[in-house]
Amino acid sequence: MQGKRIVLAQYPTGMPGHDDLKMEEFDVAAPGEGEVALRTLYLSLDPYMRGRMSTAKSYAAKVELGQIITGETVSEVTESRDERFSKGDIVRAHTGWTTHAVMSAKALTKIDPDIAPVSTALGVLGMPGFTAYGGLKVHGDPKPGETVVVSAAAGAVGQIVGQLAKIWGCRAVGIAGGPDKCALVTDTFGFDACVDYKADDFREQLASACPDGIDIYFENVGGDVLKTVLPLMNDFGRIPVCGLIAYYNMSAPPQGTDDMPMLMRMTLTKRLRIHGFINYDHAEWRPDFEREMPAWVSEGKVRYVEDIIDGIDNAVDAFQGLLTGRYTGKVLVKAG
Ligand code: NDP
Repeated sequence: MQGKRIVLAQYPTGMPGHDDLKMEEFDVAAPGEGEVALRTLYLSLDPYMRGRMSTAKSYAAKVELGQIITGETVSEVTESRDERFSKGDIVRAHTGWTTHAVMSAKALTKIDPDIAPVSTALGVLGMPGFTAYGGLKVHGDPKPGETVVVSAAAGAVGQIVGQLAKIWGCRAVGIAGGPDKCALVTDTFGFDACVDYKADDFREQLASACPDGIDIYFENVGGDVLKTVLPLMNDFGRIPVCGLIAYYNMSAPPQGTDDMPMLMRMTLTKRLRIHGFINYDHAEWRPDFEREMPAWVSEGKVRYVEDIIDGIDNAVDAFQGLLTGRYTGKVLVKAG
């Protein structure tokens, strides 16, 4: 049987395209002892993948030329040579961008389809939900009555951050691109306000949405949004630095005015706590996350949106769309 996978043909400059990420066909292998054959149902598209397509030093190893693009999937077991898995089981796996894979059984997590639709294992109940949960709870340290602002608020992580802020008794303010996304953030996810960072009066709108200042800024984007947020931070504010998507397609640091003195002055005078974190360093968050998040999702206390693109043939275009704000909520490719 033939499968399809997407490999790195060359390291992209700027936005990755079809010359960089190439589709190829391959013979699907049979599993050996202790291995499981998988058919991909959903492939997760995530901003971090852009960093893996770069030779710049980062917190995780780059994808080598010719290698399959890294990524997490929800897959169905088609054949198992390990007693822990049976044909038909649904698992979460790091197969990369592929329609089929053979993996060691040790590397798989079984998913219970009765808890929620299996796609959520890549979104609200998967890495983005976990990131929102631990990043806000531990690095944000929210207290009732505080104001939490989150950027990329209509995205996979952001949509969860604001809802958790509400559960923990805070005022939740989103920042998102455009009126439709802002309406979703307030009407569907129940944030108290959402501000369009593309609007001419973004600065004024954000200030009036945060009349008591900002206690926690959950940073997903960087760039001009961060510059606008910083002066509104309250003394002893916290900034969990989750992502900086505004910079991901840049091959060199942005040119222009030197904002470092402003950042350091704000950090000192407001006694800010700015904490970068990567979700996979934090296994200690998992027990609380596993206990609380599935229950909140089942009760409808935490809602989620998924944007599902059909076919692995469309994965490269979809990845471009993810980086440019074409989609809402968690972005997935339905592989089969
Ligand atoms: P999203 O689903 O939020 O998708 C990305 C969104 O970013 C787009 O929809 C777009 O929304 C927004 N965006 C793109 N470019 C810009 C820009 N220049 N300025 C402002 N907004 C922009 O992605 P995720 O929720 O998966 O990830 C959000 C952030 O969290 C990313 O930076 C990601 O790298 C990071 N992350 C970090 C993790 C960690 O462990 N530290 C784990 C998971 C994610 P809009 O239309 O509103 O502009």
